[in-house]
Amino acid sequence: MRFERVKILETVTDKTTSKEALENIKIFLSSSESHHIVTLNSEMVVRAQTDRDFSKIINDADLVIADGMGILIASSFLKKKKGQFLPDLSNLVLTIFNAIFFPKKNKGVLPERISGIDLIYKICGSDFAIDRTIYLVGAEEGIAERTGKVLKKNFPKIRIVGAEEGIRKNSTKKENEDLIERINTKKPEIIFVAFGAPKQEKWIYENLKKMPSIKVAMGVGGSFDFISGKTKRAPQFVQQRGWEWLWRLLQEPKRIKRIHTATWKLTWLIFWDKKGRMGK
Ligand code: UDP
Repeated sequence: MRFERVKILETVTDKTTSKEALENIKIFLSSSESHHIVTLNSEMVVRAQTDRDFSKIINDADLVIADGMGILIASSFLKKKKGQFLPDLSNLVLTIFNAIFFPKKNKGVLPERISGIDLIYKICGSDFAIDRTIYLVGAEEGIAERTGKVLKKNFPKIRIVGAEEGIRKNSTKKENEDLIERINTKKPEIIFVAFGAPKQEKWIYENLKKMPSIKVAMGVGGSFDFISGKTKRAPQFVQQRGWEWLWRLLQEPKRIKRIHTATWKLTWLIFWDKKGRMGK
């Protein structure tokens, strides 16, 4: 199933609910081909503006989910954009205000935010995941293993066949080949990759064809840190209001530069976006 795609600057996002996304993942798993799922956030949209390889990888993915309130706000605003300074400014302020304070009323272009962590849980908890082989790669030493234990405890019917840190920043070609070999030995059908964006998307794009057993590969950013308990996730009401970025900033103040990119830089870019329209 192909979803309608919404364009935000140089990237696309699929217009899908988590239920529809899961139906698609079920189809991916029963096919003979490999599929790439991108969990898109605001920072990645900004990055894709100047990194053409990255925007191509996102746009070529089989499923791109909106993992960030900024994506929902940007898509709503771009739909209302008129190309006139004052109406656009008031629309932007109103869209952000509604998204923060009345998230349920603000029926935007994209039906809902689907976080990478929630999607991992939903995949692992689905009937189609029973007996499926899953590999976890990335994050700091020991975190993928801890994540595997938490997932197995919550979803005893899945099969975690491998969990490891994978490759580090300056890894060699040989280290990557060894990693691929380790993965192939275990024949996973699903792989969750936590190298952070854009490294994880580029890694999947370059290596997926070398891992024939994999049907679904998904970049999951910092999800293992949360699932393993290394980092504490925001309370439900904070998540629902889209304030998770603020919660993470309080936990990790060094993220300030990244938050700036995800908020002000994206706001600036969508406001001045010349195209200012949606498309496929
Ligand atoms: N990471 C990694 N290898 C790297 C860079 C990052 O395994 O070369 C891990 C890092 O430990 C973290 C995840 O990638 O677990 C990315 O986290 P980040 O907070 O950047 O992701 P976000 O959720 O913000 O996209």
